[in-house]
Amino acid sequence: MSCLSIAAAVILATPPLAPSAPQEAQDSGGPLDAERACYDVLRYDLSIQVDPQQERILGSNRITARLLSTTDRIRVDLDRRLAVHDVSMNDIGHVDAVGYVDVNDVVTGGERTEDFFFVPIAGVSPGDVFTIDINYGGSPREAVRAPWDGGFVWAQTPSGAPWIATACQGEGADLWWPCKDHPSDEPDSMGIDVEVPDPLVVATNGRLLGTWPAARPGHTIHRWEVSTPINNYGVALNIAPYVRLEHLYTSVTGERFPFYFWVLPEDEAKGRAILPEFAGHMRQLEELCGPYPFRADKYGVVQTPHLGMEHQSIIAYGNRFAGDPNFEYDWLHHHELSHEWWGNMVTARDWNDFWIHEGIGTYVQALYLEQRFGPEAYRQKMAADRRRIANTGPVAPRGSKSTGWMYLGRPGNGSPGGDIYFKGSWVCHELRWLLGDDEFFHVLRRWAYPDPALELVTDGAQCRFTTTDELLEIANRETGRDLAWYFEVALRRAALPTLETQRDGTSLTLRWSTPDDLPYPMPVELDLDGHRRTVPIPPEGTTIDVGQAKLTIDPDDWLLGAE
Ligand SMILES: [Zn+2]
Repeated sequence: MSCLSIAAAVILATPPLAPSAPQEAQDSGGPLDAERACYDVLRYDLSIQVDPQQERILGSNRITARLLSTTDRIRVDLDRRLAVHDVSMNDIGHVDAVGYVDVNDVVTGGERTEDFFFVPIAGVSPGDVFTIDINYGGSPREAVRAPWDGGFVWAQTPSGAPWIATACQGEGADLWWPCKDHPSDEPDSMGIDVEVPDPLVVATNGRLLGTWPAARPGHTIHRWEVSTPINNYGVALNIAPYVRLEHLYTSVTGERFPFYFWVLPEDEAKGRAILPEFAGHMRQLEELCGPYPFRADKYGVVQTPHLGMEHQSIIAYGNRFAGDPNFEYDWLHHHELSHEWWGNMVTARDWNDFWIHEGIGTYVQALYLEQRFGPEAYRQKMAADRRRIANTGPVAPRGSKSTGWMYLGRPGNGSPGGDIYFKGSWVCHELRWLLGDDEFFHVLRRWAYPDPALELVTDGAQCRFTTTDELLEIANRETGRDLAWYFEVALRRAALPTLETQRDGTSLTLRWSTPDDLPYPMPVELDLDGHRRTVPIPPEGTTIDVGQAKLTIDPDDWLLGAE
């Protein structure tokens, strides 16, 4: 069992992220209400003071957005634990008419009863750009078992210094800052100012623009700028007396971009030792999926007190330099780095397509192992993934879903749970069998960058929202095939297809049995006395003459349901 499997086992064995009647802030995504669908976030400017002693935050966020449709109020999400001190709006399009409106009266004092609030925006017309400033603060939710639950992690380094991190994939960023908590809307850019006591260092998303003394003595403001779109759960604070290590890395594009690892002072030697391996992961993923997408900002890894998360351009690394139980590589770093393509650049518009992040992000570990250690390592990894498949629900269910629901994964509830990782990985593996290496690797590259010209773009236009249907369209376009039958069975149905086999004397009959009798013309490889033969299987099945040969079906384990 690989560590990744253990990680998924934890996901599956622990209570779901969202209880049956979840508090809004503790789930993320799902159907989008009119009060959030009516605006498009253009930019966030988050400014936050972090107090390690009191375990409190005090912050403000300026939301710059464009109104898309007529409404008299918009919804902003924020965990009810945090008090909203002041909300004000400055409608750039109608400065004279609306001006600066104090809307404190819509917020229920300090005692909030919902995980969102409404801001009236009378006078703003569709197409107008407006800004809302929200001052807030309090004791944010503490993550007890991050990253499987979200919030702040208030830890200490071995020498007793504050070591602080945030993680909120399951719940969304509204756990600690006011935002539109839905995967379908990302700002085009974001400013992040963090004030912490000296000599703590802040490692967060984007580029460090500078640091300067805060008004409070003994505190410093660290100003960061994210120059591309970013998903809200990808925004993360990491605060400790970090040492910043640098690796000289040249992209497959020939560009140099900053490549940093922030480690605790106690682990500086281990950090230096592992950096070349991290760079090797980057090289393999760039060659496979295209250039690292956030070259304009940086690549950053930061040592965290929790296991890990794919925070954009600042990967959370908490694997304690432990590598992997089965292979000589750091599985966690490779997995989280893969999300820079699968999750951060290419983002599921709705959590129902979560497998695009986790399934492809898991499969590329097998490809790394194959490249580094050979085909047997690849097969071992795929066999380990296969043992985790539970078939509790379709990998890509139709209709909007929240993160909490997607992770439920219990028999009978229709949620895929850990299958978004392991069955998602097997979808890639089966497509590789069906298409052959040349076509499959070409499709994988175009899933990341649908237009090769985008591989040279760094201004944010390389980022996009995607869906399972878009990946199908790309695969069809790039191969000239119609793969709808495969996607329908493999991703839209919970149950696996089953290969029915019958040997009668010298003849062998093969037929796929599928949920809802869907067509599944998946060819199958046979080993007949050591000779390989690939047999097409039409919907009605096929019968072939195999003589007296010793028979092995699907000898290299390419297909689910053919064992
Ligand atoms: Zn992942």
